[in-house]
Amino acid sequence: MSEVRVLVASRNAKKLRELERVLIAADVSGIALVGLDDVPAYPEAPETGATFEENALAKARDGAAATGLPCVADDSGIEVDALNAMPGVLSARWAGRHGDDEANTALLLGQLTDVPDERRGAAFVSACALVLPGSGQDAGDREIVVRGEWRGEIVRAPRGAGGFGYDPVFRPEGEDRTSAELSPQEKDAASHRGKALALLVPRLADLAARGD
Ligand code: IMP
Repeated sequence: MSEVRVLVASRNAKKLRELERVLIAADVSGIALVGLDDVPAYPEAPETGATFEENALAKARDGAAATGLPCVADDSGIEVDALNAMPGVLSARWAGRHGDDEANTALLLGQLTDVPDERRGAAFVSACALVLPGSGQDAGDREIVVRGEWRGEIVRAPRGAGGFGYDPVFRPEGEDRTSAELSPQEKDAASHRGKALALLVPRLADLAARGD
């Protein structure tokens, strides 16, 4: 049986590897994941949605329409209770420059200086969308978007060298270590993205079984 190609609309090879590990763990075969670098370039719209779900769906719709392949896309960030769920969809550019992890983390810690320990709760959130190409069927049959959350709290100073983004200041519930001090395997098993990707597995298994 031939493999079904599925586009992961990300240039981050780690995200592709992570979905690969989730599929292997769930014993799903018959899917070949490809990244944006493996398909002809197409215009990628800026992430302007008000929610993680909107951004993930928009990216997956663009990918499926441009390539004719089923497409998985994700959008993620951190929601801090004391900031009324901000930075949220603005997490990657919270300090004003996209992807400046150090500045983002320093700004967040500064904002929370006077927030007591019992009100430092936060959650990493990931929305993952799967969109199948074509317009024949109902969008409800072609599109799914799911959400994974990882609760914890914001510590007072960065710790650990693993992970990326806000990992050095996020201590998951039930852990003494920050998520930057966990091994990649430990993080995968508990993380927001791991949980969201796992929710897509039944749909991907269906795709593989149908072979289209
Ligand atoms: P995305 O790649 O557009 O989804 O942006 C996500 C942003 O949210 C990143 O730049 C990080 O600042 C933050 N973020 C999302 N997931 C994580 C995580 O697992 N650890 C640390 N930061 C994360």
